[in-house]
Amino acid sequence: MRISGPESPRIATCVLGSLPPARLAVLRDFLCADGTVIDRGLALYFPAPGSYTGEDVLELHGHGGDVVQQMVLESVLLAGARLARAGEFTERAFLAGRLDLAQAEAVADLISAGSKQAVRAAQATLGGEFSRRIQTLVEELTALRVQLEASLDFADEDIAEMEPALVARALERLEERVTVTLQAAARGVRLRDGLRVVLAGAPNVGKSSVLNRLAGEERAIVTPVPGTTRDVIRETLTIGGATVELLDTAGIRHSDDVVEQAGIARAVQQMRQADLLLLIEDDSAPEPRAPMDIEPDLDRLVVRNKVDLSGRAPGVFHAGVRVSALSGAGFDALCEAIASRAAHLVGDGQFTARRRHVEALDECLQCVRAARGTQCRAGGTELVAEELRRAQLALGRITGSVSSDDLLGRIFASFCVGK
Ligand code: GDP
Repeated sequence: MRISGPESPRIATCVLGSLPPARLAVLRDFLCADGTVIDRGLALYFPAPGSYTGEDVLELHGHGGDVVQQMVLESVLLAGARLARAGEFTERAFLAGRLDLAQAEAVADLISAGSKQAVRAAQATLGGEFSRRIQTLVEELTALRVQLEASLDFADEDIAEMEPALVARALERLEERVTVTLQAAARGVRLRDGLRVVLAGAPNVGKSSVLNRLAGEERAIVTPVPGTTRDVIRETLTIGGATVELLDTAGIRHSDDVVEQAGIARAVQQMRQADLLLLIEDDSAPEPRAPMDIEPDLDRLVVRNKVDLSGRAPGVFHAGVRVSALSGAGFDALCEAIASRAAHLVGDGQFTARRRHVEALDECLQCVRAARGTQCRAGGTELVAEELRRAQLALGRITGSVSSDDLLGRIFASFCVGK
């Protein structure tokens, strides 16, 4: 049991009879309010600021067991403590400046890590690897802003304006650095959440059947009537050691049905956020190519389904992989192809990151690009300075130097109680 806050020493005196020495494990009786012994175990006292939360912390290590733990808890509550909210210890550590926001999030990511690589990457973020990269960007931004704003604020005095060519070069370098960090963060997100793979294709080509085959169970509803998958179906799997979140989307086509239209809108939305598109086509159709516009920049893998009908050989071919969701033919090759794309997209993910970090970095990048775009125009310096200010605000949201209660509430609510 962990107790944090300025009242901890007083609570220790109530429950243990006296305050244990600092940072030394001592064997103590755990007492209830009337002085009877409930349990006997180790007590540890960490005076502020040398504790996880940065506050006075008391830890009680008892024998466990529901009733005895409940009795110790009651005794602690009676002495004046209250139950912690989810993630509140880590939230207090953040508020005390022991961790920044990206590090605090890494605590939750470490606990929920689904692979050894994700553990190592979450540990790197917790150790400040990601935050240091953001900090370096913030420092570069600040240095440039200081020079630009000085020339604006003290235009009458003798401060020479920065050479436009120098500003241009600094902005270009900044854009490169932000892009590199953005790409690394995107790999970090894939490492944390798994690769987002979207199955797309015309109705009835067998998207749901392919998902079921990959998932090894009946998950999506398969019917011979086109347009039955009206919602997005998700399935998280491990394919060749890589965590993959598979999403089956509504068949994309023109439709007058309102419900189906809603499904299609959601499918398009999901496609935009995909890491990899599995473009399912019907190998037995006269014209198997999917008749639709899809995001041209997305990494994709063509899967020609229904080889049992077309009679062609299953496995890798020049444009992708041929399979039969009905017989399972070609699925070993398909899994291998997905795993190799996954390995490429996650790379040697150095640290974990979250989608909100990538969004903030993307906003920062857009601002830096806008700054480059306005630099040459008249009155450009002011606009550049303003864009860089916004770029810096976006980065501040990652580490929490700029944050709202709402954001903090959402982040810490996803933790478990006691962390
Ligand atoms: P979706 O609309 O793209 O999700 O397609 P479904 O998975 O619902 O499949 C549409 C129809 O094609 C169903 O009747 C399936 O049984 C059939 N089907 C799917 N895959 C195969 C396959 O590999 N071979 C054959 N012969 N039929 C298939």
